[in-house]
Amino acid sequence: MTIARTLAAVASDSDYDPNSMPVARAHAYIRAFLSPVTTVERVQVRSALGRVLAQDITSDIDVPGQDNSAMDGYAMRFADLKADGETGLRVVGSSFAGKPYEGTLAAGQAVRIMTGGVVPRAADTVVMQERVRVSGDEVTIPGGQQKGQNVRAAGCDIRNGQVVFRRGQMVRPAELGMIASLGIGEVSVYRRLRVAFFSTGDELVQIGRPLGPGQIYDSNRYTIYGMLARLGAEIIDMGVVRDDPAAIEQAFCEAARAADVVITSGGVSVGDADYVKQILSRLGEVLFWKIAMKPGRPLAYGRIGSAHFFGLPGNPVSAMVTFYQFVREALLVLMGVPEPAPLPILKAQCTTAIKKAPGRTEFQRGILSPGDAGQWTVRVTGDQGSAVLSSMSQANCFIILPDDQGNTPAGATVDVQLLEGLI
Ligand code: AMP
Ligand code: MG
Repeated sequence: MTIARTLAAVASDSDYDPNSMPVARAHAYIRAFLSPVTTVERVQVRSALGRVLAQDITSDIDVPGQDNSAMDGYAMRFADLKADGETGLRVVGSSFAGKPYEGTLAAGQAVRIMTGGVVPRAADTVVMQERVRVSGDEVTIPGGQQKGQNVRAAGCDIRNGQVVFRRGQMVRPAELGMIASLGIGEVSVYRRLRVAFFSTGDELVQIGRPLGPGQIYDSNRYTIYGMLARLGAEIIDMGVVRDDPAAIEQAFCEAARAADVVITSGGVSVGDADYVKQILSRLGEVLFWKIAMKPGRPLAYGRIGSAHFFGLPGNPVSAMVTFYQFVREALLVLMGVPEPAPLPILKAQCTTAIKKAPGRTEFQRGILSPGDAGQWTVRVTGDQGSAVLSSMSQANCFIILPDDQGNTPAGATVDVQLLEGLI
């Protein structure tokens, strides 16, 4: 469906209310409009870190290639061992990692073996060195061993012919290692998503210039930069744009030409929105929502030319909360990950009482820490004002209080969304 028809369908939806948009519905609408990048690049395996695979990866080897030892010890034939009581075996050689024992084990023989050493032909069991006695070239094995113990079977990690990763897999350090373990040096990934962003506001001052009366430094461009960089986007920073219709229109046009995604902060709340709305309705198709959430109420979403557009609120905490709740997942889809894993949510006991009126989903900034008896506890970071960026910096999670919830007493169980190191 084209964006125009999808937007028309949304706008005519009987319970579509732009002035009170539940978080989950905004998610679903945005999701319906996203079309991922399709251009593919071949890159060296290390350069695939943080990129999305554009191909399935199939192994043409077994990993490990041969049965090998999980321990330092002795390899032997299980059939040689007495069921109970000790067995003496003659040590006839060694198998070290990368230097296998070339022969076949005969009855009554054992081989000194190190972790990763290939298990010699005819041997099937490894006894760890701490369990044996050695005297000259004889090793004494206690009773009670299990057949096959301490042997890592060929192909136990990956089998020849196995599809190891599907297209759409994000490459993280573990995937880099897996791809390397298959001997694959180059992979196909989707090109990086190009994201242009700018801040709007006459009060904003760039770092390096003195603050005049009523002015503040532009911090959103730094938080947004950081969040985009963590996602591996190609970043086009367009600076601060004045609250001036001509300047804003020009910035939108430039950004939409240069990027797959345009992100702005500020200028979409009531009042400002009127002229931004007019500009955007000329340049593209944009929906202005008041999301039933706190903080982060105003959010604009749509298309400018072929670029996706997210208009985030100006307040620094609101901009981050809406980025985490809406933009992060959308960007992952656009990068080629079909079903991005949501940020993990777990239950924790909240040690502070929280005041809340029913009607909106609240995202309070929280500090999650281990409590007694394996339970997690969480407390709010203090002043929850949407301009108080230190509440974000101190937090490692959001405490999510659903729409219908009212005041929450201390000790209540709450949902906590983890942020630490995730984005
Ligand atoms: P707005 O959405 O433009 O009405 O802005 C809401 C609040 O966020 C105002 O107090 C702005 O000064 C503040 N704000 C807007 N943009 C930024 C920014 N880039 N950095 C820091 N604060 C901002
Ligand atoms: Mg503004």
